[in-house]
Amino acid sequence: MAAPALLNWIELSRHALRHNIASLARLAGRRLLAPSVKSNAYGHGLPQIVSLLAETAHCGYVTVHSLEEAITCRDAGWTRQIMVLGPIPTASLGEVLAYDLEPAVFELRTLRELGKLGDRRGVAIRTHLKLETGTNRQGFTAKELPPVVELYRKYRSLGKPYGASMHFANIEDTTNHEYAQYQLDNYRSLIALLKKLGLTPKVRHTASSAATILFEKTRFDLVRPGIAVYGHWPSKETYLSYRLQGGANRLFQPVLSWKTRI
Ligand SMILES: *Cc1c(COP(=O)(O)O)cnc(C)c1O
Repeated sequence: MAAPALLNWIELSRHALRHNIASLARLAGRRLLAPSVKSNAYGHGLPQIVSLLAETAHCGYVTVHSLEEAITCRDAGWTRQIMVLGPIPTASLGEVLAYDLEPAVFELRTLRELGKLGDRRGVAIRTHLKLETGTNRQGFTAKELPPVVELYRKYRSLGKPYGASMHFANIEDTTNHEYAQYQLDNYRSLIALLKKLGLTPKVRHTASSAATILFEKTRFDLVRPGIAVYGHWPSKETYLSYRLQGGANRLFQPVLSWKTRI
């Protein structure tokens, strides 16, 4: 029996997604590319998008916000690395080990619990330290770093921080990037402090789509673009700044289209 004809539907373009990933991989160069698939892959469907990303050679990583999203990625067959940027309830931290996840950590309590769990089970855990540089959302300040370092020393399973991250407060909102520069300076001094305390992170990362596109110096070792993966510019200002820098058009193509029969 023929399927009933749909009146309207959405389509995902594998070609567009590949094009966007290739553009971002070009910007990333030799750095790691970790697309953000939070919020149901920006509404595109998390299982569908990770399946398509798994077909590409460029993404060894995805980033998600929640534990639930991370588990959805695993259930969809994603076997590469997963970074979880949002908070994970203490009672669920065992899932980090069960699903081989990399949590971003911004509370001592979480770090301590992870250290205990890892040591008890004899598994190494990759953590990403979230650093506070002026977004005033989550993250450790310089004053808070000594007790953080103590925990890394105390729990073998934590080793050294695998990653160290920050998030720009307004990099897509404006054509004036003084505040972004201020945050970047703070980030660099926190990294220097960590180094001095003996805990040099392996993977430094700060860049969302706008930062990845506009500022090479924010790319460090890994980039975490979200909206651009799906073929949209983070803002008019980002597009304008990019074109003023002499950037070519057609960097991104929309992945999703909404169709109807007329
Ligand atoms: C959402 C998010 C990103 C991606 O941001 P886009 O502007 O969509 O590229 C990167 N990093 C963090 C911490 C995020 O929360």
